[in-house]
Amino acid sequence: MTILLANDLVKLYGDEGEAGATRALEDVSLSMNKGEFLAIMGPSGSGKTTLLNLLSGIDKPTSGEVIISGKEISNMSGDELALFRRRQLGFVFQEFNLLDSLTVKENIMVPMILEKKSAFYMEEKALEMMNLFGINDIANKYPYQISGGQQQRVAVSRALVNEPDIILADEPTGNLDSKSSATILKCFEKIVTEFQTTILVVTHDVFAASYCNKVTFIKDGRIHSHIEKKGTRKEF
Ligand code: ADP
Ligand code: ADP
Repeated sequence: MTILLANDLVKLYGDEGEAGATRALEDVSLSMNKGEFLAIMGPSGSGKTTLLNLLSGIDKPTSGEVIISGKEISNMSGDELALFRRRQLGFVFQEFNLLDSLTVKENIMVPMILEKKSAFYMEEKALEMMNLFGINDIANKYPYQISGGQQQRVAVSRALVNEPDIILADEPTGNLDSKSSATILKCFEKIVTEFQTTILVVTHDVFAASYCNKVTFIKDGRIHSHIEKKGTRKEF
């Protein structure tokens, strides 16, 4: 089943022909099936952030379309898109983006509160996520009281509670040491295996990419190459 489809995306910043106009993306097409774990890699300025912004609906393409779970998101109205993002997309960022005044458990509950889930459901779901990622012992701590690795596991839990079709992660290991990075990447592997969630990671980190099934390289706003991994990763 196709979860994400990007067709011939072009993104132009500024007006064509005008001095300073930038063609940030040129005919970028991508397709992801359910349960795929893809890394997008490329040098600085190659268009990774632009692509992620188009895939998540934060920005509109100059031409081309983005289809997620059969819905064309590039034409959605603001309200429609906000609802779609809340229900079908999960986001993980480099900076964790947790709310400082809420505990770990409350942070995880935020997306469910917005969906008006029952207190019982939220409690059960938060507990399930915290158990899955080994953070149940810090349920009542605040973000400043826990490590970066733990904060990112809270962010991954929060991204998952509404059972999104796809998780979009922007440099999820960018602020983590190698041990915490490995922990987060193993969490992603677990999500792919247990829930068949589709995950797209934009990263500079070759170590992070080694956990993915596929890697797409972009360069100067164009798809440069794809590699697909056969078999499982072998750790030494
Ligand atoms: P990456 O995330 O791979 O570093 P970006 O998507 O940020 O790449 O940038 C791709 C190109 O588009 C770069 O040349 C960058 O300077 C340009 N660019 C990005 N955002 C804007 C913007 N808001 N306005 C004008 N140019 C931009
Ligand atoms: P992990 O590898 O799981 O991210 P660490 O090994 O970095 O965790 O941290 C181990 C313990 O030290 C954590 O349980 C956490 O409570 C505490 N700790 C680490 N960093 C911080 C921090 N910046 N502030 C508060 N506590 C921290």
